Amino acid sequence: MKKVLAFGALALLLVSCKDKEPQLQYYQTPFTYDIVKVQEPPQTNEVRNIIFMIGDGMGLEQVSCAWVLNHGKLNLDNFSSVGLSRTWCTNELITDSGAGGTALAAGQKTGYSHVGTAADSTDLYSILVDASKLGKSTGVAVTCHFADATPCDFCCHNEFRYNQEDLIADYVTCGVDYLAGGGLDWFTVNRTDGRDITKEMAAAGYNVALTEEELMAADLPVVGILSPDNLPVALERGDLFRHMVARGIEMLSKNENGFVMMVEGSCIDDWLHGNDIEKGMEELLDFDRTIGDVLEWAAKDGHTLVVVTADHNTGALTLQDGNLEEGIIGVHFASDSHNGIAVPVYAWGPGSALFTGIRENEDWGKLVASFVK
Ligand SMILES: [Zn+2]
Repeated sequence: MKKVLAFGALALLLVSCKDKEPQLQYYQTPFTYDIVKVQEPPQTNEVRNIIFMIGDGMGLEQVSCAWVLNHGKLNLDNFSSVGLSRTWCTNELITDSGAGGTALAAGQKTGYSHVGTAADSTDLYSILVDASKLGKSTGVAVTCHFADATPCDFCCHNEFRYNQEDLIADYVTCGVDYLAGGGLDWFTVNRTDGRDITKEMAAAGYNVALTEEELMAADLPVVGILSPDNLPVALERGDLFRHMVARGIEMLSKNENGFVMMVEGSCIDDWLHGNDIEKGMEELLDFDRTIGDVLEWAAKDGHTLVVVTADHNTGALTLQDGNLEEGIIGVHFASDSHNGIAVPVYAWGPGSALFTGIRENEDWGKLVASFVK
């Protein structure tokens, strides 16, 4: 009798496991490209420029899926130093982008939804501010609107990331030389106070560029606001994001003291929240293409540290089936929000050899900041 019961329980377990086998989403992308192969410059402590690249929501699972979609190659494969980042914030195990990005930007963990402020709500200043004080040029290029958390983490200060009118107004005095992203409506028509922040930025000395052509022609300091909200999706915007990053590097690198630039593949996270594997992956692939451009430039320059990481992991994605040769993935999302799995950190260039091990997100931020000198 016992045996029969045990067998019955086992059979039930097997049936219920099979029932729980998730439905996989299969995807193969038209967004494939050749990667660059670059020679890493010698390891010295002489770092003139830093390009800090953040894939919002980009965990190792997402990178692995992108790698399969692009037939087993990514520009991230060029990075020889890799570590892991723990992303929890001071009052929650699972962070948001406000707290996750602030820890990277300012080297200090903070409370959930805080943007450029400490857990006690005092202002925190990012590596861009450190760099400015040393006479370096600074820049930000993102695919999201400027009221989104990560660009605000580097440029603005608020204890609540959805105080977006106040956050946008902070750009007027942020002192960052090159700003490129989306979200014109957040500067103008979305406001309840009637202010037009583009006019205030112009009065503060910024050249305001509202098209790609204007951005490519404008001198520093410049704010390029190239869409009403987030930039168009990766497949529709073509090379726009790459051009925004390249123009920033071109302008900022004229400073012989060097520059620090934050580049974000912002919308990876948005699409993963919606469990949209196609658009999430295309955003990640466009981010990796841009990483390739950055590495090509940095290899010629020889004095640039490139760091790539994520503020947190989104979507509890699993890669459960697929075909490397055909570039097909079969995936399942277990969540539509953030999770607490550690995210990868990649570094390349002078100083990169120190970027190994398992550290807190704030310690990775401090390590990057240690090269701002
Ligand atoms: Zn998110």
